[in-house]
Formats: sequence, structure tokens, C-alpha cells
Amino acid sequence: MPSTSPVKVLDKSGQEIVSVGFDRFGFNSEVPIDALRSLYLRSHYVVTSTSDKVDGDSLDPDAEEQQHAKFTKGLSAYQSKSIFYPEDNSISYTTLARFPPVKLLAPSQRKRVLVTGGAGFVGSHLVDRLMLLGHDVTVLDNFFTGSRTTVSHWVGHPNFELVRHDVVEPFMIECDQIYHLACPASPPHYQFNPVKTVKTSFMGTLNMLGLAKRTKARFLISSTSEVYGDPEVHPQPEDYWGHVNPIGDRACYDEGKRVAETLTYGYQRQDGVDVRVARIFNTYGPRMNPYDGRVVSNFIVQALKGEDLTVYGDGTQTRSFQYIHDLIDGLICLMNSDESRPVNIGNGDEFTIGEFAELVREIVEKVQSEAGDRPSRRVQIIYKTLPNDDPQKRRPDTSRAKESLKWQPRWTVRMGLEEMVSILAQSQKVLSLTFYVRIGTVITGCR
Ligand code: NAD
Ligand code: UDP
Ligand code: UDP
Repeated sequence: MPSTSPVKVLDKSGQEIVSVGFDRFGFNSEVPIDALRSLYLRSHYVVTSTSDKVDGDSLDPDAEEQQHAKFTKGLSAYQSKSIFYPEDNSISYTTLARFPPVKLLAPSQRKRVLVTGGAGFVGSHLVDRLMLLGHDVTVLDNFFTGSRTTVSHWVGHPNFELVRHDVVEPFMIECDQIYHLACPASPPHYQFNPVKTVKTSFMGTLNMLGLAKRTKARFLISSTSEVYGDPEVHPQPEDYWGHVNPIGDRACYDEGKRVAETLTYGYQRQDGVDVRVARIFNTYGPRMNPYDGRVVSNFIVQALKGEDLTVYGDGTQTRSFQYIHDLIDGLICLMNSDESRPVNIGNGDEFTIGEFAELVREIVEKVQSEAGDRPSRRVQIIYKTLPNDDPQKRRPDTSRAKESLKWQPRWTVRMGLEEMVSILAQSQKVLSLTFYVRIGTVITGCR
């Protein structure tokens, strides 16, 4: 089945990716990639009001609409459209007339799923998948780093509920599965209020485990590669205990996640709670908050704005980046498997940050050139101070995920980046200030 999308993505073995997910462990998580794209690429489509001129270019709303219809094929009927008025920087929102089709599941197959942090980057992609699959989804979020607009396309759907709640406070609900994702994840965000980050990791996880104990729901926590700290073992297998500074700038997050794992296994041993622990490595994709300070969003936004790319330190530190769909596949597989040990979920393609800056610059240049855009100068790579305790290297050993879950990443880093950058450019006509504003709306869903 060929993809209907203008974006063609090949997996690591050169096969076109037309769907994500698997039918595994009695849980089918497969959905067409185009159905997902219609949700995150233009979930809230914005056209510019007729009277506008941007950088001297008149925007033609009819042409924009036609381009949109072509881009989304039959899926535009399920999307809302809003009008942006640059002259007074205002926006007129519409609401959805119809929701995208979701699977009709037999009651025995339909899960009641709680997703904490479901309005964030990872959470909103998980919610899209679970909703399309026909499950009942409740999102719990305090909107600290997430936004209502990342899931607004589901608000009002009979299978969906959005609750503003801080997980530090107890919460009662009946459910079958809990994906506990609530926690700021970008270093500037989690260091903004370190005490709150520790409270969220400890008290939030305690409450969600108490809820899992009471309801007998299966509990999955999104832990992190940061539990390995600045690792002395490379790549990092799950049985490596880590090398973490317990009082440094990153400790609120690293130690928070470590104690959250401790609590999780405490509840498993003491109370028989059915637990899953995902150690997630650096993940990127659409709906990342472009201002959250993580390296992928920073570099893409800088390059598109024509600003220099800021590499921290000398750029020799490494990271391994996975695309969001691989992560969601891994999380769903883990949740529905029998594997209760921690499992690394990440992509083994390792880059120095210096190399990564060059890759992002090259991809943005390619996309700009295909769009006929000629930036007045080439963006440079500049060097800034390395933050304290920045891990020197990071790469997952994913043998356990491969053996236990039969999961391995399908997206190359380049494919993911090309999709992320090229779709933004294809869906916008002008690489300009308005385009940049819209990047925000596309990535974050109009935050
Ligand atoms: P994000 O900041 O986009 O999402 C986190 C969500 O949690 C946001 O919607 C935020 O508002 C919500 N939240 C934060 N504190 C809360 C609280 N006290 N109560 C209720 N909601 C709260 O980050 P993300 O990248 O989507 O990360 C999601 C999870 O995955 C986090 O637990 C993070 O530690 C983990 N993780 C992510 C990555 C990655 O690369 N994205 C890597 C490792 C681990
Ligand atoms: N908790 C919750 N929702 C529930 C059940 C428990 O938020 O449905 C909270 C509860 O308020 C407590 C925490 O989870 O703060 C741990 O619960 P547990 O039953 O393990 O501990 P206890 O209440 O006995 O201290
Ligand atoms: N980084 C960078 N420039 C930026 C943002 C981050 O060089 O504009 C570096 C950062 O110092 C780290 C790596 O990129 O070495 C990954 O940073 P990120 O904040 O994305 O994630 P983490 O450090 O938590 O892996």
C-alpha cells in the first residue's frame, strides 16, 4: 500500500513506512502513518487573512486552502481551520466539526487508559495513537510544559477526557492501564523549579502507583537514560547502575527518576503492582515545544530563522536520537508485554553534537533550496559554554527491547529530521516570520 502523503519516508532497510505499530502481545497498535500525520502536522490548520502581506509576498488564502486540501487528501474534513491576522497579531479559532475515525473495539478489547503528562510532546503522540485505536483515554496534565492545544483535536470526543490536575495531588479514577509521563523533560524546564521537579517525580509517581494499586491497573513509567548520568559504560545496558551527581544541576531530574523507579519496584515487591519501566533516550519529532531548549528543536528553529546554531562545549559530547513514532511503538509494546524489568527505548545511531548541528543545517538547507528559498547567508555553528554535568556520551544498548519486545527503531535520524523539517516547509509557502510563527503552531499545535 503506497503512502498518500507528499512525504515519503523509508525505514532503515529502505522500505517505505506507511504504518506504525504492531499486532503483538494481544494488542494491535497499528495505524496508517497518514492518519497520524493529519493530526500532528495540521491538526489546527491556520490560514492568513486576505489582507496580509508578508515580507512583500501576498498570501492567497484560496491557494493556501487548495494546498492544504492536496496535502491532507481525504483527511481535511476532520481538521479545524483558523485565521491568522498578522496586522494585529490575532487569531480566530474554529472547532472541529467531525473527529477523525477511530476503531470500534469490542468492550473486552477496549482499555480505559490514563495518560499523565498527556498534553506534552510524547504524551500527545501516545494519545493520538490510543485514540485512533479506539481506546478510552483520560489525560491528566497541569500544563506546566504541555499545552491543551496538543490534544484539542480530541476534546469533545466520547472516548476522550482532558483533566487539569497536578499529579503531586492524589487523584481517583477507574482504569486498566496507566502511562505515567507527567514530568518536565527538557533541562531548562526541569531546572526551572528543581524542588517541584523532585516533588513531581516522587509524589506524582507515589500517587499514580497508589492509584494502580487500588485499581489493579498496569502501570508504566517513562523513566530516562538520565538514570545512567554521565556514563562510564558505553553503550548503556539496563543493568548498568549509572554515574549520577546527586547534588548537581541535573540531579532534580536524574535522582527524581531514579527514586521514581525505586518506588515503582517497591510497589511491585510490596503490593504486587504490575509495573513496566521504559528508559527513554533522546527523542524528537513534531509537537516538540520549539522553545523548550532541547537540542533538536533549538537547532531546527535556529536554522529556519537564519540564526547561528549554538553548540554547547566543543560539540564532542554524543547523543543518540530516536524519532517519536519509534518511541510510541516501544512504549505500547512494553505496556502490553510481560517484561517488567527496565527496558531501554532508543535509537543506537550516535552523533557528536557538532556532527548533529551540521546534519540539521544540511537538511534545513536542502529543504529551503527545494522550496526555492535563498537565505542571505549560511548559518554558522557557534560554540557556547557547556552546562554543568552534561553527559559526555550516550547510546542505548537495546538488546533487551529487541529480545523481549521484538522492537527496534525503524526511523533513521535523517528520515525523522527530513520529515520534521520538510513537512514544515512544504506546508508553508513563505520562509519568513509568519512561517516561523506557524512552525510554532504546527509543532506545538497552536500553543
Ligand atoms: P514534555 O515536557 O513535553 O511533557 C511533560 C508533560 O507533563 C507536560 O504536558 C507537562 O505539562 C506535564 N506535567 C509536568 N509536571 C506535571 C505535574 N506535576 N502534574 C501533571 N502534569 C505535569 O516532555 P516529554 O518530552 O513529552 O516527556 C514526557 C516524559 O518522557 C517525561 O516523563 C520525560 O521524563 C520522559 N522522557 C522524555 C524524553 C524525550 O526525549 N522526550 C527522554 C527521556 C524521558
Ligand atoms: N492515591 C491516589 N489515588 C488512588 C489511590 C491512592 O492518588 O486511587 C494516592 C494516595 O493518596 C497516597 C498514594 O497514592 O498518597 C499512595 O497510596 P497507598 O495506598 O500506597 O498509600 P497510603 O494511602 O496507604 O499511604
Ligand atoms: N545542546 C547544544 N545546543 C543547544 C541545546 C543543547 O549543544 O542549543 C547540547 C547539550 O549540551 C547536550 C546535548 O545537546 O550535550 C543534548 O541536549 P538536550 O538538552 O537536548 O538533552 P539532554 O542533555 O538531556 O540529553
